[in-house]
Amino acid sequence: MKVLVINAGSSSLKYQLLDTNSREVLAKGLCERIGIDGKFTYKAPGKPTVDAADVAMPTHAEAIQAVLAALVNPEGGVISSMSEIDAVGHRVVHGAETFACSVRIDDKVMAALEECVPLAPLHNPANITGIKACTAVMGPNVPQVAVFDTAFHQTMPPVAYTYPLPYEYYERDKVRRYGFHGTSHRYVTQRAADMLGKPIESLKLISCHLGNGSSIAAVSGGKSVDTSMGFTPLAGLPMGTRSGDLDAGILEYLMNRHGMDIKEMVSVLNKKSGVLGVSGVSSDFRDLGSAAEGGNQRAALALDMFSYGVKKYIGAYAAAMGGVDAVIFTAGVGENDAQQRMAIASGLEFMGIKMDPDANNIRGKEAVISAIDSKVTVLLIPTNEELMIALDTAELA
Ligand code: AMP
Repeated sequence: MKVLVINAGSSSLKYQLLDTNSREVLAKGLCERIGIDGKFTYKAPGKPTVDAADVAMPTHAEAIQAVLAALVNPEGGVISSMSEIDAVGHRVVHGAETFACSVRIDDKVMAALEECVPLAPLHNPANITGIKACTAVMGPNVPQVAVFDTAFHQTMPPVAYTYPLPYEYYERDKVRRYGFHGTSHRYVTQRAADMLGKPIESLKLISCHLGNGSSIAAVSGGKSVDTSMGFTPLAGLPMGTRSGDLDAGILEYLMNRHGMDIKEMVSVLNKKSGVLGVSGVSSDFRDLGSAAEGGNQRAALALDMFSYGVKKYIGAYAAAMGGVDAVIFTAGVGENDAQQRMAIASGLEFMGIKMDPDANNIRGKEAVISAIDSKVTVLLIPTNEELMIALDTAELA
């Protein structure tokens, strides 16, 4: 089946055309600056690449039209007509408690997606716009499926998802831990079970999705039982620019001292904090590594705070599950940064985690990176959210 996977942002649209039988990416690219001056990129193996500026894209509908035109283009295209696209899969950020798995989109689902908007006011409207644009351009008969970042974590028990706030904020306002990166955690834990050659139902796994945004999930028997992100993706670990967890009392203190309103404060927490805020250097771990090697103490502190944070979650989630069979590293930092992986695992020998430094000296490839006599297996598994979305879409279309 040929599935077009769409990840729509407010002014951008990432796309991939996948063949779900061969699991091959046929073409992929990015529409940026939608509604501004329109940038379009397209890549397909063995075909000329497109990298165009000033492409007329006043709305997401024109962006989808540009994607389809590139896919069927006689020179660089990979299909002969739009009718070869069997279905479209959309990444949707927030599915609230309404969606515990992926769904085929119809009018009822669209109405429910609108209801989720207050929970993700920056992301869900863009996802809805992407769905509407596909319907407008491709017609109502092409099946469309929504795959949610939150859905995988809907199996968390109340003890993990309830905040210690007045209970009516949960009942009335839906304030609870939702968790994100669910599609990634689901993909890598399934791959981990394949790599270990064991049924996922028998496994206790800790999945570390460490990128610009980072989250950790405790996955027992194939079900997410806890995760570090919360009501929003601001919670948990310190990230590239996000603070992660902190004492809520700090907000009032800083707002009073610097005359900030809540918007400015939240912007600091989302955009100026994390490893960028601590180091003052960069949100990119490669820059931090070079700066730390050059003697920059704050860059070194930021890196140490990150690995310390991940290590604490691994300990906590092993305790929550009553053990752990494997720890998985994925996403930009998890897949590429051997030093971070080593720093995270060091000191965890007491719980049966023993790395193999040579095996760990690897980037972006599925591998066992723990020692042969390590009780807990440590795995590097590149994530593939687009493939997961395409496979769900093929199943439901
Ligand atoms: P992601 O959000 O999963 O795309 O991850 C992006 C982050 O991965 C970047 O901010 C970098 O900090 C990190 N990253 C990518 N490549 C490397 C690398 N070779 N070494 C260390 N960090 C990397």
